[in-house]
Amino acid sequence: MLHFELSSEQRMLRELAHDFAEKEIKPVAEHYDQTHEFPWPIIEKAKQSGLFSVNIPEEYGGPGMSLLEECILAEELAWGCSGISTSLTLNSLAALPIIIAGSEEQKQKYLTQMAEGLLGAYCVTEPGAGSDVAGIKTYAERKGDVYVLNGTKTWITNAPEADLFVVFAKTDREARHRGISAFIVEREFGVKTGQPLPKMGQHASHTGEVFLENVEVPVENRLGPEGSGFLTAMKVFDKSRPAVAAAAVGVARRAFEEATEYAKTRTAYGKPIIALQGVSFMLADMAMNIEAGRLLAQKAAWLIDNGYSNTMHAAYAKAFCADMAMKVTTDAVQVFGGYGYSSEYPVEKLMRDAKIFQIYEGTSQVQRHIIARELSR
Ligand SMILES: Cc1cc2nc3c(=O)[nH]c(=O)nc-3n(C[C@H](O)[C@H](O)[C@H](O)COP(=O)(O)OP(=O)(O)OC[C@H]3O[C@@H](n4cnc5c(N)ncnc54)[C@H](O)[C@@H]3O)c2cc1C
Repeated sequence: MLHFELSSEQRMLRELAHDFAEKEIKPVAEHYDQTHEFPWPIIEKAKQSGLFSVNIPEEYGGPGMSLLEECILAEELAWGCSGISTSLTLNSLAALPIIIAGSEEQKQKYLTQMAEGLLGAYCVTEPGAGSDVAGIKTYAERKGDVYVLNGTKTWITNAPEADLFVVFAKTDREARHRGISAFIVEREFGVKTGQPLPKMGQHASHTGEVFLENVEVPVENRLGPEGSGFLTAMKVFDKSRPAVAAAAVGVARRAFEEATEYAKTRTAYGKPIIALQGVSFMLADMAMNIEAGRLLAQKAAWLIDNGYSNTMHAAYAKAFCADMAMKVTTDAVQVFGGYGYSSEYPVEKLMRDAKIFQIYEGTSQVQRHIIARELSR
């Protein structure tokens, strides 16, 4: 049976998440954008509200949300501020390789800590390899009961604050994707991190380098067999991209709401600018593309929640929603005219924040590459 109605539990989650975004995130979004502080107080409140580490299954202390529920949550939190929501929801990304490939012992040990508040980071990208995951150079050399990790990761969200790192490294230098393995690395093993890197938007989210210099990781911290890391990373993307797409929908929706409100009150030629077709058609395009984006993100989530493959739909959703959020926020700035360009009005921040959705979790070009690859199978 096909229907588009949320269940009463899903509606309650949306209300809870929206209430949290309205009361706890929106009022402080500007502060965090200007100060670049890490939003620890919001993370603490999210923990108390059950909105942290949400994909961790109940048996390990988390709420065990479905991916569709994660999408509902992500849209509302990002509506409040996508920088804060990125910091807040990153634990779900860091937990995914453990959920997907972890042993029972690894899940008991690490997922329970993450559910309690231990902050994790997901480390694939390196200075020389981002889209080309198989091109990473970080090397894990087996020496008896440990692997010795050497290499540098960059652009790692939450790295400056995290205490747990899921690191993808080569265990076979000669092989490309088949030579990658994933490891759970505690900061205490000797991980060093850099200062937050300066960036265009999402200032409430910290992104930094991770330095691995002769870091000894026990063999029991390898996730799955040697060489299975690339497959794990691809399975992670199938589960992470729909929620990232939903967050982009949240940013776009906020910009649309701000622009619509402004267009109703700003007057030109003696009438509200919403009466000008050039403006109202921009708003109409925003409304229909936001709706389309939400449906794509939720369908990509529903597919995986119900046991179907979603690689293509996750790519549809990620590319569409990221590009849509960039267009909607840019048009929202246009609706505000000169005031849109001012940092004293909200849409300028939304436009800066939107840009990253076209880059992280696989660029918009990489999503099209995936779709084209699936088409040619
Ligand atoms: C704020 C921020 C947070 C991030 N968080 C994380 C994180 O937590 N963990 C993590 O591991 N990484 C993270 N990243 C890294 C991010 O995933 C990469 O930046 C991204 O995958 C692109 O890689 P790159 O920067 O090396 O660009 P490149 O791969 O060098 O790409 C450069 C250009 O080439 C294009 N291109 C590359 N390959 C193809 C192709 N096959 N077809 C067509 N065009 C292509 C790209 O689209 C892009 O336009 C983050 C990045 C940022 C900026």
